[in-house]
Amino acid sequence: MKIFSCPGCAQVVWFDSTSCEACGVDLAYDPRIDEFVTGVAACSLRETVESCNWASTGGTADLCDCCSLDLDHTADELRRPFQLAKRRTLRQLWILGIDPATREPQLRFDLRAGTEAEPVTTGHADGLITLDTAEAEPSHLQEVRISLGEPYRTPLGHVRHELGHWWWAAAVDVDFSTEEFRDRFGDESADYSAALESHYGGEDDGSWSDDHISFYAASHPWEDVAESFAHVLHILDTFETATTHRVMTTDEAPVGFRAIYDRWVPLTLTLNALNRSMGMPDPYPFAASPTAVDKFEFVATRLPQLG
Ligand SMILES: [Zn+2]
Ligand SMILES: [Zn+2]
Ligand SMILES: [Zn+2]
Repeated sequence: MKIFSCPGCAQVVWFDSTSCEACGVDLAYDPRIDEFVTGVAACSLRETVESCNWASTGGTADLCDCCSLDLDHTADELRRPFQLAKRRTLRQLWILGIDPATREPQLRFDLRAGTEAEPVTTGHADGLITLDTAEAEPSHLQEVRISLGEPYRTPLGHVRHELGHWWWAAAVDVDFSTEEFRDRFGDESADYSAALESHYGGEDDGSWSDDHISFYAASHPWEDVAESFAHVLHILDTFETATTHRVMTTDEAPVGFRAIYDRWVPLTLTLNALNRSMGMPDPYPFAASPTAVDKFEFVATRLPQLG
């Protein structure tokens, strides 16, 4: 994420800011120009617990480009981290040259909190992404993460992973052919339900790490590409943050995904070391094999602005 500034006084503002801490002016983010603006109509979910800070599109119910993708607009505290994750990731999609409004299947989100009696399964089906907002509760999130043996689990990770499924459906036979996809990831026509059933019933013996970024990615080519897409977005966002905050100084901007990736590897060591200095877990607890990096590159080079 880049550093934004207040259009009134040029003070630094955060991506989730609704007003400037220095001059007090009300702010709204305009995704079309990737800047904060003042004096525009705000998303109708701004004055709710969801605190959306995007500009209204002027369309139905005065929602923004992000909230208008939701099936339901009943504001809820548990939706807040997921909405922030959606806004952060949609900004990335636009920058990468993907406008969901111009793609099929139509992208929509269903945000609901699962309970023991009525569980909600996070997933993607024909453009509809379902997110279990019960995971906004940190203790519940950790419980699920540990029970599944995952090193990393966050609302942002969910949004990026599920958008990876949508992106595959929107980009296959448009931005890449089924054949070239299968050459890299394997045959996605393999029975998906059976693959997931066998994954959840199986033991993690670590053998996935030669060819995949995670145990889950090894379950089916669709999960592999969704995981790879999420990692590409993690890498590009963190890289943008590091360069604009000058954690990393570069004489010239790297061109292409490989050049970014070569700078990313030492950056992850710094990132993890900084967190360890504060007694925090590694934010990037992954080590990608050459084959996994080839898959990241496959995804990155099919994105209109990076390819
Ligand atoms: Zn200001
Ligand atoms: Zn909104
Ligand atoms: Zn998935």
